Amino acid sequence: MTYDTAIIGTGPAGLSAAINLKLHNKTILWLGASNLSTKVEKSEKIANYPGMGYISGSDLIEKFKTHADEMGLEITEQMVTAIMPGGDFYMLSAGSDVYMAKTLLLAVGAAAAKGFDGEEEFLGRGVSYCATCDGFLYKGKTIAVFCGDERFEHEIDYLAELADTVYVYAAYDGGKYGRNGNKTDEAGKTVILRKPIKKVSGTMKVSEIVLTDDTHVSIDGLFCLRNAIAPATLLKGLELDGAHIIVNRAMETNLPGVYAAGDCTGRPYQIAKSVGEGNIAAHSIVEYLAEK
Ligand SMILES: Cc1cc2nc3c(=O)[nH]c(=O)nc-3n(C[C@H](O)[C@H](O)[C@H](O)COP(=O)(O)OP(=O)(O)OC[C@H]3O[C@@H](n4cnc5c(N)ncnc54)[C@H](O)[C@@H]3O)c2cc1C
Repeated sequence: MTYDTAIIGTGPAGLSAAINLKLHNKTILWLGASNLSTKVEKSEKIANYPGMGYISGSDLIEKFKTHADEMGLEITEQMVTAIMPGGDFYMLSAGSDVYMAKTLLLAVGAAAAKGFDGEEEFLGRGVSYCATCDGFLYKGKTIAVFCGDERFEHEIDYLAELADTVYVYAAYDGGKYGRNGNKTDEAGKTVILRKPIKKVSGTMKVSEIVLTDDTHVSIDGLFCLRNAIAPATLLKGLELDGAHIIVNRAMETNLPGVYAAGDCTGRPYQIAKSVGEGNIAAHSIVEYLAEK
């Protein structure tokens, strides 16, 4: 099936677009996290979203979820790791699945921290963002994993089943693999790195990572498990201004059928702005589909 639209991101921008596209009877693939937005969830008190008075982020998320449920909106809880143009549609890789959509809305939030030196250069040549898709390539090999969020730890477990040795650097404390822990798997295959990864390098393929204390660790591959992937890495050819996606007032990007909304298009990083842009993008998408 080719969806009318794939919305990447379940924060306020993605939700607003999903509601409006649903009202226009468009077929939607809505990809992202089932908690909708960690940023909103973590806001202690929101005072500037009209109609809500003072509301905690977690209460606003509950209201968003109720609204999504009432509209019959379903989330496909997957990270999109790559998007490729396919003529008059786009192909999206998420987990081990591939989806097709006529239009795209990037509502991915503010760009994640910059990748490691060498990361983009070695993407597909030893650097991967998807354990399910590429894990099997590293059976019996030595890999490193950067884990940006505890909710991806099951992917490390999976990689540890396949690989011979797994070096893990987690960007958080706690969890099974957190940087302050000393837990390794029962087979002793995982090694917790104490220093952050600075660089990935190699010749034709990845051969090592370098840590911030200049330790060199030989590896066959590096998995980067993050909450978000920089838009330019996700979709080649997308025009950016620094870390932000360039859009016009219709929320169109430079690529045909591709729209962006919310924090990913620039400051101010605000819920109301994200909701407004999601709304505009949805209307632009409806017009684009009608013209097609
Ligand atoms: C502590 C804190 C307090 C704040 N307080 C306020 C406030 O009081 N008022 C206010 O207006 N704003 C506030 N904000 C800002 C507000 O939370 C953001 O502006 C808003 O959440 C942006 O919405 P968004 O939809 O653009 O992105 P986000 O809410 O960041 O959502 C993006 C979503 O996209 C998902 N995603 C990203 N990449 C991918 C991918 N490749 N595949 C699948 N999913 C992906 C992410 O997991 C996330 O779920 C606050 C933020 C923080 C951190």
